Amino acid sequence: MKTYKQKTDFLYIGVKLLKWYQTHKRDLPWRKSINPYNIWISEVVLQQTQVKQGMQHYLNFVERFPDVDTLANADEEEVLLYWKGLGYYSRALNLHKAAKQLVTDYNSEFPETYAELLKLKGVGKYTAAAIASISFHEKVAAVDGNFYRVLSRLFADDFDISNSRAFQYFSELTELIMPETDAGCFNQAMMDLGSEVCKPKNPLCSDCPLQDDCRAFAIGKINQFPVKLKKTKVENLALSYQFIYHDDQFLVKQRDTSDIWKKLFEYPKNLDFNDIDFIEEHEKVIQHKLTHRNLEISISKILIPNKCDFDKIKTENDFLSFSFTEAEQKSFPKPLHDYYIKYFS
Ligand code: SF4
Repeated sequence: MKTYKQKTDFLYIGVKLLKWYQTHKRDLPWRKSINPYNIWISEVVLQQTQVKQGMQHYLNFVERFPDVDTLANADEEEVLLYWKGLGYYSRALNLHKAAKQLVTDYNSEFPETYAELLKLKGVGKYTAAAIASISFHEKVAAVDGNFYRVLSRLFADDFDISNSRAFQYFSELTELIMPETDAGCFNQAMMDLGSEVCKPKNPLCSDCPLQDDCRAFAIGKINQFPVKLKKTKVENLALSYQFIYHDDQFLVKQRDTSDIWKKLFEYPKNLDFNDIDFIEEHEKVIQHKLTHRNLEISISKILIPNKCDFDKIKTENDFLSFSFTEAEQKSFPKPLHDYYIKYFS
């Protein structure tokens, strides 16, 4: 780490931030209590999702699954259904597994320390730190992209945030400004400052409580921080589907692979129609971006005019068939969901 002055020289910054937070904190439903269950669900919903989009999903989820026991006892399919629209369904599967783990190993109570929380399925350093600090007042920093950005600018620190040691580095940097008490509020203040004021593009420095202390602002180099040398590697992936239908039914199968879209429903692929009448209507190509993948999805629309033929394909290939109403009770990857919605509209 760069050589900074004595740790205590910067603690006033954290105190200032806490003061700002008291009057500027966002009014969010999960902040009404410090119940670890609610904090946990909200943090997982908000990974990869903006607060605005995540809010209603969070409310629906905790209304249906208000506590660890209800979540653990629910059907996996229903948990996935309540995740519909949020994407990255592995998060929902992990929540479900961790709830079961809490029931079995922890008597349905949350462990109260960062180290113990890390043992839960799908709970990483950030989520464990958020729960430990907000619900159990442990002094641990919930370091995420907001921390990287605010701290790099505050100290005009050019440590590369794509470096594998970035998490450790910025955790240590946080120590310089983190007050001894109120870790939960401090972490939430950093989240709010990062997302509302010190935004990635066009930060609102004139509204920033830390402007007087911000080195990047002082030297007029805000746009040079944070430094990110390695670009995120994105893989291109092509997928071909067949939307095979008869009347109001179409064929589907549940994915069981462990890569993308685990446990979600998808359309058939690569089917031959040797002795069966079919009409291939058209093909649609959809571009869909995931965090590390650019998908090119082509879907051929295939009508099977004869009901017996449709049933034969279904049985021989171990498919299911859904109507629109049935499909809406299941979970599909977003592009496939959007496709059948168009078909039925
Ligand atoms: S002054 Fe601007 S760049 Fe510096 S911390 Fe505040 S918002 Fe971020």
